[in-house]
Formats: sequence, structure tokens, C-alpha cells
Amino acid sequence: MTRATSTTTAGPVRAVHGITLGEVRPKNIEGTGTPMLWWTLTARTWSPWLPVLAFVIEHERGLVLFDTGESPDSLSDKNYYPGGMLGWVYRRQARFRVPAEQTLTAQLAALGYALGDITHVALSHLHQDHAGNLEPFTNVPVYAAPAELALLEQSTPELHGVLARRIPPPGVTVTAVPFTSGVLPGFPESHDLFGDGTLVLLPTPGHSPGSMSLLIRRPDAAPLLLVGDVTYDPALLRRGIVPDVGDRATQLETATRIALLQQHLPTLRILAAHDPHALTALAAP
Ligand SMILES: [Zn+2]
Repeated sequence: MTRATSTTTAGPVRAVHGITLGEVRPKNIEGTGTPMLWWTLTARTWSPWLPVLAFVIEHERGLVLFDTGESPDSLSDKNYYPGGMLGWVYRRQARFRVPAEQTLTAQLAALGYALGDITHVALSHLHQDHAGNLEPFTNVPVYAAPAELALLEQSTPELHGVLARRIPPPGVTVTAVPFTSGVLPGFPESHDLFGDGTLVLLPTPGHSPGSMSLLIRRPDAAPLLLVGDVTYDPALLRRGIVPDVGDRATQLETATRIALLQQHLPTLRILAAHDPHALTALAAP
């Protein structure tokens, strides 16, 4: 299964589609507190292939794409990664593949959409498997959290997992999400995308400094929280276990915030970008 859909009949959000934009074998899923450089150099085992998920949300005011997946260019273009030691580290941390039916164009076409139908893009973070395939979006707003965009201003964004030579591509503008003081338990800041409370962007830092999640609320269906790489497995997140990628203290603080939100919204479904069970959870009644 590479796609799943949750449809509703009431409210501005008509459907939420999960799509698969490539596959990844990360090395570190269940964090043990090991420093990233150490496991990058020493770990010999790889996880099974996991999906790279993105989400297409049909809202009455537009078609929103949350994350843009892994680009097939990462496999065909020899210059996609930095050279030297840094490129070697990139290749050691995760492996990717993008089968032909998992390109962004193919996955949208299977839903009856074309690239030009997308009206808004939001990026959970700027790592390549969440912010690839941005080239077509020269005329639509593309949002990322301010703290994530700040990485592009650093002298070596690549050290933070951001391929700044490619993100953003020429002609594409990534706009900082204008977070304002929020009303959701656990989250002092948020941004309500259409001002109707149905699609709310939340800062969920830790995996990267500006990681963010999208809360989807519908009157007749379970709320959804698209968390990107805050966790690879929501069951681990509920136990307070986070991957050894990012800043551990911040990751644990985000886990606490999400737990507070879950108390407020008991039927909340957390959908992680590399969770092989996320599409089933999305489609469940
Ligand atoms: Zn990822």
C-alpha cells in the first residue's frame, strides 16, 4: 500500500490523502542516547525499508501538500550530495530509493491531481526526504518554521542535514511560518493556515531546530497530527522514546507537548513520516 485516504462529509477539510514519495532505510529508530556521530560511524545494521510519506489535504480553500518527499534526483545526480567526508556521512546515515510509481507526479496523478493543482506547501523540516521535489512550486506559498529557515543562513547548513545548494531550488521561495500565540494545550505558539481552526501548524522542534507538525481537525472524524520525523513510531513517542537524531532534550520536551495535546484530543492519531503503519492508521474508521 503506497496511498491511503480519509474522507469526511462535514467541514472545510474534505479528504486527507497519505502518499508515498520514496523509501528509506534509516539506521537509528529507537533512540538509546547514542551520539549521532558515533552510531553513524559504527552501526552495522540498517532498518527495513520504510516509506517516505507526505500528505495531500483537500480543503475547500485549496490543496495543501505537507512535505514533498525524496527527489529521484538524489539517486541519479552524482552531485546531489556534498563531496568528501560529509557526503560519505550522508550516505552512511540512511539509504533511499524512489520507484517510478512513487514520484510526486505519479502519486498525485493516482489521486487525480497534477502538480499545478497544489495551492500551498508546508514542510515539516528541511531534510532532503521531506523537502525534495520543490522545483515545480515557484508560484505557490511554501512554508517552513523560522528556526528551520535560519539553518540556511548558517555557514554550513549541510552539517545540519540541509542540502542548501538545492533547498530551496531556483525560483522557489520558502516563507517563514508566522507563528503567533496559540490556544492549544502544550503549544504556546501556532499558525492557523486558513483561520478556521482546521489546519494548524505547530512548532515541534528537536529532530531539527525548526521541525513542525500539522494538526488537522474535522467535525466528524478523528483529529490527525502529521509529525514528520518527531518520531518514527508513535508508540515509542508515547513512551517518551525519541530517535538519536537531533537535540535530545528538545525532542523530549516536544514529546511532552504532544502528550498534553493528546490528553486534550484523546482520539488524536499521530502520523509519522516513516511509520509503515501510518497509512493504515489514516484510513481506519
Ligand atoms: Zn525523514
